Amino acid sequence: MIIELKKFTSKETIEHLASKYQAFHIFDENKDFLITSASVKELDKDLNKHVENQWVFATDMQLSSRNFRPTTREVTLKAGLSIGGKQKNTLLIGGPCSVESEEQIRSASELLNELNLSVLRGGCYKPRTSPYSFQGMELDGLQLLSKMKSEFGHLIISEVRDATHVAEIIEHTDIIQIGAKAMYDQGILRACAKTQKPVMIKRGFGTTLQEFTQAAEFILSGGNSNVILCERGIRTFETKTRFTLDLCGVAWLQEHTNLPIILDPSHAMGYAYGVPALTKACMAMSVEGLIIETHPNPTEAKSDASQQLDYDGFRNLYNDLQPLAECLGRKIR
Ligand code: PEP
Ligand code: MN
Repeated sequence: MIIELKKFTSKETIEHLASKYQAFHIFDENKDFLITSASVKELDKDLNKHVENQWVFATDMQLSSRNFRPTTREVTLKAGLSIGGKQKNTLLIGGPCSVESEEQIRSASELLNELNLSVLRGGCYKPRTSPYSFQGMELDGLQLLSKMKSEFGHLIISEVRDATHVAEIIEHTDIIQIGAKAMYDQGILRACAKTQKPVMIKRGFGTTLQEFTQAAEFILSGGNSNVILCERGIRTFETKTRFTLDLCGVAWLQEHTNLPIILDPSHAMGYAYGVPALTKACMAMSVEGLIIETHPNPTEAKSDASQQLDYDGFRNLYNDLQPLAECLGRKIR
């Protein structure tokens, strides 16, 4: 249950009620809320006098639910740039799977600059399936991203692999990416709840939509309202493509949750040849963002070589997306 408390409820009362009902307390849009388990359906009489409004839920998808907040949350990325809310912005996030060198990440920044795009991606702590694969440049890579940010001004998104380096990721990024394998990590979720930085949670490839939204609830109930969901493909019986992009799931999330959505066709498809058409299908879903891996020389990439677009491929995709965006009344940023 979500309980909106009356204005001027004292701090002591809020603390008392939060502890009595084992509730989270958040202060959002100038209002105090208590959030209990969805199994609570009714309040004790002692609480009624403090209650302005209340919402009862069938499941623990509560703060992220459209039943609580009917419109998509606005997540501000920097002054003058936000997604969700009344904004009709679609981010086209570009950059390599992994930061590999200064020369490589600089070329990606130059590409974004040329296309007037706002957000640079680049993984530094790579959650590889094999311990023998390239694991990422770690802090050196994050420092390169920060250097690019100061030279070019792009916002930075990079992934956190585990809770040991979450503070570094928070320091060096503008959007924290929680990877598909890391989205159950309670240490990461709890740390991301304590910052106000936007967090993009990628859906695990065996994660139900209910589990996905509950990962978001960890961050929302901890006091960070800037949560974005990212669908990046789930595992099905099909093995010809790397994963299966669940656009039905995206329609469900758009109908039932109030969180902005970014789609990742690169990881879903796994092969560059399919990425442009799939990205257009994603754009047609009118989502808040697209995240596309691009590399100056994909065959030489140290991770995810088969799925990264070369720069001309990325430029063509950008051009092909423009009329679609226009048709949807959206602006590619
Ligand atoms: C990535 O974005 O490079 C990545 C590893 O993504 P995911 O967590 O979706 O596999
Ligand atoms: Mn990748």
